[in-house]
Amino acid sequence: MYIVLFGAPGVGKGTQAQLLAERKNFAHLSTGDEFRRNMREETELGKLVKPIVQSGNLVSDEIVSRIVTDALSQKRFSNGCIFDGYPRTTNQAQYLDSFLQSRNTPITKVVNIEVDEDNIVSRLLQRGRVDDTEQVIRERLAIYQNETAPLLEYYQNQNILVSVNGVGQLEEVYNRIVSVL
Ligand code: ADP
Repeated sequence: MYIVLFGAPGVGKGTQAQLLAERKNFAHLSTGDEFRRNMREETELGKLVKPIVQSGNLVSDEIVSRIVTDALSQKRFSNGCIFDGYPRTTNQAQYLDSFLQSRNTPITKVVNIEVDEDNIVSRLLQRGRVDDTEQVIRERLAIYQNETAPLLEYYQNQNILVSVNGVGQLEEVYNRIVSVL
């Protein structure tokens, strides 16, 4: 199964993806984690994306596609995975579709985790990552609305979109996600 966990920054995609990976033995691909790892290790890629990530902007589709292609060519991703924080633009979604279709393993489901904006902002402020200042959070939410939210219709049209309520205890939300997979 290839599952996309979808939603605004701070809805809990990363946490839920990690739980699914641990408990259901899914491979997990977080483009954000990949960027943060590269920034920590100060690789060329890390140096390139650091100012972009820290300002809350999106890394270019070209760089993102390269990361994803590299990851998906590893054996541990060949039986499926959870995508978390990817795709985030129409371009990325089209790229992923053509990549997976060429391997005859299309996306199984896109799970849209829904959380209201007030909840999101307070969660992100608690998390306290360097890109979690109030100004950068606002920037990321605006970018989500403009660039990423249109993908809801894109996946709705493919009949693979399901939505779950992301407000509640971690285990509650986890069970909701598992029940729609
Ligand atoms: P969050 O869960 O708060 O959305 P992520 O870890 O998914 O955080 O992403 C952190 C940052 O990494 C984003 O704000 C963006 O700069 C960059 N990033 C991650 N994934 C993508 C992507 N698919 N396309 C473009 N930029 C991305």
